[in-house]
Amino acid sequence: MTFTTTAITAKAALLHAVGGPFRIERIEVALPREDEVLVRMVGVGVCHTDIVCRDGFPVPLPIVLGHEGAGIVEAVGARVTHLRPGDPVVLSFNSCGHCHSCEKDHPATCAQFIPSNFAGRRLADGSTPLSKDGADVNGMFFGQSSFATYAIARALNTVKVPGKAPLHLLGPLGCGIQTGAGAVINSLKPTPGDSLAIFGGGAVGLSALLAARAIDVDKVFVVEPNPERRALALELGAAEAIDPRDGRVVEDVLKELSGGGVSFAIDATGIPAVIGQAINVTLPGGTVGLIGVPPPDGQIPATLLDLLVKGVTLRPITEGDANPQTFIPYMIDLYLAGRFPFDRLITTFPFEQINEAMHAAEKGSAIKPVLVF
Ligand SMILES: [Zn+2]
Ligand SMILES: [Zn+2]
Repeated sequence: MTFTTTAITAKAALLHAVGGPFRIERIEVALPREDEVLVRMVGVGVCHTDIVCRDGFPVPLPIVLGHEGAGIVEAVGARVTHLRPGDPVVLSFNSCGHCHSCEKDHPATCAQFIPSNFAGRRLADGSTPLSKDGADVNGMFFGQSSFATYAIARALNTVKVPGKAPLHLLGPLGCGIQTGAGAVINSLKPTPGDSLAIFGGGAVGLSALLAARAIDVDKVFVVEPNPERRALALELGAAEAIDPRDGRVVEDVLKELSGGGVSFAIDATGIPAVIGQAINVTLPGGTVGLIGVPPPDGQIPATLLDLLVKGVTLRPITEGDANPQTFIPYMIDLYLAGRFPFDRLITTFPFEQINEAMHAAEKGSAIKPVLVF
């Protein structure tokens, strides 16, 4: 494509007010700066963080959200060397690229994680590539704002993927699926003989299950109140799926099933009382991975003495502690080998049905909605 102007027109889902709805409108997208990429979106996942931001987590308005984009590179900036027009790509989270964590290949703990993903602006100069009728529209959400037919991403968070994978389904590998799978593979690193309890069977928890099964961990227990999700967990290889509302004490059930306790637990709920259950069922010396987003005033539901005596480690994990440039291709390789069927978690919707897709995620009828363009 040859560009004769400095911007192109795109259709985007704009959020004008807390609570929504999203409205599909025409916007202008500026051409990429030297370290940026213009991507034509093919599919984009809906993640819990999009819903949280719609409902008041502080982002500037109006804004284009969306942070699980997959598409085709249309144009690259002058300094971009690892991508070219026509490349299929997945967009992941943004990071500064030069803090202590970024230098050490752990961009998920970037010191600038919040501003580089939630400020609605470029970190470098506070500008935005998006506008409507000459007025700024906030963008660069997770370095992409991919609820739009075209997005500007940074080369740094744009990951080239193999052409043989189904591109329209790959977007969630950039956030939700990476979060669950990375927690298992990058952070907790269970071995086949270990046991793992996963609290919460949504997209993130079930991605943790898929990852554990991909590395041959057999004893995986999923705790989830929604019966359809429990059934899916069993189909995807959970040893047991436990209903936390069936009147039994969850810790007792898990200890019985696991023979006394689990080596690892993952909380994908962010609910302090559930994290307490995870701590209680973890064996001495074990680790509890914390990946659910807790309430702002949430406290650890254990005393320091409890933790000291049990020797349980609490491990907060964001974005699966993944470097997306290597971890996303790794997950795709597992998928193509038939060992990581993340597509089982996905329900597709046309892009125009973004509000319906979010509603489906909220009421639990879709685990991972993906909007298709
Ligand atoms: Zn950084
Ligand atoms: Zn996300």
